[in-house]
Amino acid sequence: MPVEFHLGELIYLYIAFQCQEMTVHRDVVIARLKLLYERNPLARRICLVIKDLARRIDKFKVIKIMDFCGTHEWTITHYGIRSLMPDNVELVAGPGCPICITPAEYVDQLIKLSFEGIHVLTYGDAYRLRGMGVSGVYSLEEARAIGGKVSVVYSFLDAIRVAKENPSENYVFFGVGFETTMPSVASPLIRNAVPKNLTILPAYRLTPPIVKYLIENVPDVEIHGIIAPGHVSSVIGSLAWKFIPDDYGIPTVVAGFEPLDVLIAIMIIIQQLCRGNIKLVNEYIRVVKPEGNVAAKRAMMEVFDVVDAVWRGIGLVPNSGAVLKDKFRDHDACHVYGLKHPRIGRGGELIGCKCSEIVLGKAKPTDCPLFMKKCTPQRPYGPCMVSIEGTCRIWAEHGGLRRIEV
Ligand code: SF4
Repeated sequence: MPVEFHLGELIYLYIAFQCQEMTVHRDVVIARLKLLYERNPLARRICLVIKDLARRIDKFKVIKIMDFCGTHEWTITHYGIRSLMPDNVELVAGPGCPICITPAEYVDQLIKLSFEGIHVLTYGDAYRLRGMGVSGVYSLEEARAIGGKVSVVYSFLDAIRVAKENPSENYVFFGVGFETTMPSVASPLIRNAVPKNLTILPAYRLTPPIVKYLIENVPDVEIHGIIAPGHVSSVIGSLAWKFIPDDYGIPTVVAGFEPLDVLIAIMIIIQQLCRGNIKLVNEYIRVVKPEGNVAAKRAMMEVFDVVDAVWRGIGLVPNSGAVLKDKFRDHDACHVYGLKHPRIGRGGELIGCKCSEIVLGKAKPTDCPLFMKKCTPQRPYGPCMVSIEGTCRIWAEHGGLRRIEV
């Protein structure tokens, strides 16, 4: 049962946002928790089961469960789920926000292009993402403010509409996102529905390879359970995550985004750790099929080639990026305007920003000295504060709570 908002809470949240008061956020989260528990005895019951099972696990000092989706992190933080966990269960955010891991080099190149008369079309969150400021301008938002050609669009279809309405202008669409957004670009390209004056900078990243990379290459981030992303899984299918329990013995649950979905996923993971029957579970069966969306996957395969790609704050991850196949080169901004995919480095780290540790689950937003000082949702400095899926932005807007007894 979804948790409802009442008018008072919404007004409270609005005031909190206006005042940028963390303490007010905390009260709002507590109010939400009360709603969750007073109205949903099942949630309370699941928490008691989690508590009981976690008590029996002495193999790990702390059971670390990582979410790989910004929306799961939002649910966990918004509803204060982290504060309900027993002492030995830690919920950690992983690299589940596409804006957070999009290399700065893309932003810098697009800023330059926008001053050369090529119109950049971008989603609203990528609009505020900071590059390294190689031209003295840090974001597409700043570029537009001083005369760069930049516009915000809601989707690739919106970009097509804009380009068709202005045939004398040349456009580049900043294609960021995971497997969820790629089919929306692939389908019009296959149908030859993209006008000649619209090209794409494909900065897409693939999610299973980053999970594999984290498990294999970041040993100090010990993960004991994984909440696999629900949106991405609706495209790639739950079976895409089977390698995690099979190859690495880590319980993995594909989960939905209601608080109950997340609580159930945590319970299943801890149950598996307790009983030793490690396997993949699809909790989100109302949306995710084992095979995913076959038509969308076919369209992606027809349009994109898989390549090694740099993730911001992480570095080069094998087979984790997607570039346009050669037959679509006339719509590839890399071919048409000579833009480059970064191949080395860690995608641009900003001085003082801890995002590289946050996307790997090594640090929390509150560990960053800039959190809610130099870096706020209103004036984001680091990439994790930009998007509503960014861990720092989520923590800033929805507060972080210590444990609460329920
Ligand atoms: Fe980076 Fe800002 Fe988060 Fe600090 S608070 S880690 S600067 S995004």
